[in-house]
Amino acid sequence: MSSSYEKTVLHYINGEFVPSASGETFTNINPFTNEAINPVAEGTKTEIDSAVKSAKEAFKTGTWGKMKLSDRLKHIHRIADLIDRDIEQVAHLESLDTGLPISQTKKMVARAADNFRFYAEMVKNRMVGEAYHVDDEFINYTIQKPVGVAGLITPWNAPFMLETWKVAPALATGNTVVLKPAEWSPLTANKLGEIIHEAGLPEGVFNIVHGFGETAGAALVAHPDVQLISFTGETKTGSEIMRNGADSLKRFSMELGGKSPIIVFDDCDVERALDACVWGIFSFNGERCTANSRLFVQESISETFISALKKRVLNIIVGDPSHPDTEVGPLIHKDHYENVKRYLKIAEDEGSEVYAAEVPKHLSKGNFIPPTLLLNVKNDMRVAQEEIFGPVLTVMTFQTEEEVVEMANDVKYGLAGYVWTNDMKKGHRVAGAVDAGMLWVNSQNVRDLRIPFGGSKSSGIGREGGHYAFEFYTEMKVVHVAVGDHHIQQFGKKNIA
Ligand code: NAD
Repeated sequence: MSSSYEKTVLHYINGEFVPSASGETFTNINPFTNEAINPVAEGTKTEIDSAVKSAKEAFKTGTWGKMKLSDRLKHIHRIADLIDRDIEQVAHLESLDTGLPISQTKKMVARAADNFRFYAEMVKNRMVGEAYHVDDEFINYTIQKPVGVAGLITPWNAPFMLETWKVAPALATGNTVVLKPAEWSPLTANKLGEIIHEAGLPEGVFNIVHGFGETAGAALVAHPDVQLISFTGETKTGSEIMRNGADSLKRFSMELGGKSPIIVFDDCDVERALDACVWGIFSFNGERCTANSRLFVQESISETFISALKKRVLNIIVGDPSHPDTEVGPLIHKDHYENVKRYLKIAEDEGSEVYAAEVPKHLSKGNFIPPTLLLNVKNDMRVAQEEIFGPVLTVMTFQTEEEVVEMANDVKYGLAGYVWTNDMKKGHRVAGAVDAGMLWVNSQNVRDLRIPFGGSKSSGIGREGGHYAFEFYTEMKVVHVAVGDHHIQQFGKKNIA
């Protein structure tokens, strides 16, 4: 894979790619080699202020919010078409920047294009809401208006797709946007800026400010002219953002961390459950919020299941993320790699067995953690409770349905859950009992775009996707209209002759 994307990544503000006022940059690193890819403009409050100003102008002057809906939606379709045209390039940049295997980034980019089309279609049918003919005197109806300037803050895992999950509904509904992408993965955000520029959106409608969370991100959250923040990232960052945004009373969408269980009953299709379990934790390098990072396998089949799992783990293809056969690539950044390593040490200290292949010598420059099983884990260990966010699966066993539901729920997170059984009564029961926003029964992590995405407990507030995102990015207005001459209450008339 070429790492020659050498030009400085600039902010995109008011329809132009611009450096920081201070001229400051930071260095973007290739996780496969730990060599510099390129400098990135480091934005601070100054750049956030000018991006918000241009987004506010674009919203107020009506270049976007008041554009004819059909014209606005043409722009959204154009963005989707340009993403499709550049799929290969976007996928390569994503792999270069994040270490995600190319076979996986290609699929994510295609889905991002679909998401723009999906919201263009939904908005066409939804900007006028409900209408009630109350009686012969009144009609009441609702209309959906864009909220204003949307602040979007995104993480480094699957960055392009997660950015577009927010950008597509925010723009399609008529808001203007300031995006603050994660500092470890600026390349495909920059490419999205280029695509949106080419699609011909009016100046100021879409803006990107690169930089760090504590500076650029915090300035966006605190800005009084930003009406909403949609955030995806760590739970503790989400809390901090809610605190910092409270003074300006913003609306928040929070997509946060996870520690999702996969529950494998002895009456399931074992081979399919095994496939799903391996893919669900090791795809996207394990850096995935919905990863099934806690396996609960029923004791009666645990020996065979775990030995098959061990075999798979040793045979997963670890390597160069640009190679089409690679299944697991390097972790995003040295700091994150060290963090995952720390958890492997904690696992040993807590008495768990760490089971993994050696990383081949030729990969020693990259941030490689091999697919790893943590065996002999107890549910109260840190490695069973905390989000590791790498290719690491904690393995536990259970005897009864009641016991496994209790274990699955004994964690602060509630993002996703996976249940494997051929007894569908039990499947529905357990899906209903596990505390999580999303449950998959005998299936992998697949989602129709109409269905919401998000978690409960410490995994989030609100939902993305489907009509939930539509509602988040719009303000509902209710209009009451008299169509007859109904009686109007009379005050202050009694003493008037
Ligand atoms: P993070 O919280 O460290 O950073 C996310 C974004 O927030 C980055 O852009 C960062 O610069 C910014 N940020 C950090 N501090 C900030 C502050 N004080 N104010 C404003 N912005 C700030 O998360 P990460 O490490 O980039 O991403 C991994 C995490 O994201 C994991 O916990 C994962 O589970 C979670 N995630 C959740 C979902 C979901 O849908 N629930 C999806 C993907 C990732």
